[in-house]
Amino acid sequence: MWIGGCSLCCFLKSTIISFVLLTLSIMQTVSADPWEITRSSIKLGRRLGEGFFGVVYQGLYNNTPVAVKTLRHGTMDPRDFLKEAQIMKTMEHPNLIQLLAVCTEEPIYIITELMKNGSLLDYLKVRVGRLHLNDQIEMAAQVASGMAYLEMKKYIHRDLAARNVLVGENNVYKVADFGLARVLQAPPNQTNLYYIPVGKAIFPLRWTAPEAIANEKFTIKCDVWSFGILLYEIMTFGEMPYPDMNNSQVKQRVPNGYRMPRPVDPYCSQDMYKIMLDCWNGNKNDRPTFEALKMSLRNVRG
Ligand code: AMP
Repeated sequence: MWIGGCSLCCFLKSTIISFVLLTLSIMQTVSADPWEITRSSIKLGRRLGEGFFGVVYQGLYNNTPVAVKTLRHGTMDPRDFLKEAQIMKTMEHPNLIQLLAVCTEEPIYIITELMKNGSLLDYLKVRVGRLHLNDQIEMAAQVASGMAYLEMKKYIHRDLAARNVLVGENNVYKVADFGLARVLQAPPNQTNLYYIPVGKAIFPLRWTAPEAIANEKFTIKCDVWSFGILLYEIMTFGEMPYPDMNNSQVKQRVPNGYRMPRPVDPYCSQDMYKIMLDCWNGNKNDRPTFEALKMSLRNVRG
């Protein structure tokens, strides 16, 4: 009788333990972020390039070639990044780089689709004079299309530039790094060719609308301004904007109405220049929408 009691007791004990273990594993499955992957599931390959915030590698994930952006320690607060990544995951468009997975423990890894031809800036620089206006319009139209999607989703890029557009096979162009600028932190004394400190933040000065520099507030209309600068980069095959001015001249003269002249060498059509000037309207409410820009680009003549 006692033996029977013991076995009942053992049976109950093991049933309770199994139940607890099962509940725990269900809880873990429910709360685990399916986008979060272990570092060991990624194989890092060759180095693709380096941005302001870290090195980008080619990688292999689930036997698929991917790009892995590794962020240097301290470039962002992992909690802020995680919040932003939740939004980035919901963005799906043929002209936006698709986020595939993340490792949110530092060093943070951002795993995205791989774009075989690298950044648009590098792509343009090695093709000086070898592209036709139609190719340039195609690039601009695809970027406008991706940005029109962000506009519709009420999302702001904050760092639209040729260096943040990637080129795939068969003339596919995709906007990368949307949303990252919001969560990036950089020591104010850390500057490079593109980013300069303004107050406590850092800005890509030459791509940023004057009102965003002045009040540190970004809107989609600031992205439209940056799109105008991106058009300039496309038409000049990757020239640095305001080529004859230093940073303090840009900071001082652009808010006072200075605009870059129409590029003449290589030639940029009046139609294209008119679109740039519309994007650089001093009154942000008078700048076009990305939806409208898509249309205007269809009607550009050489
Ligand atoms: P970033 O940190 O985004 O500025 O990237 C630095 C460089 O890495 C870029 O200029 C590209 O050459 C390369 N790169 C970044 N992301 C990708 C990607 N998804 N596919 C291919 N190359 C990439």
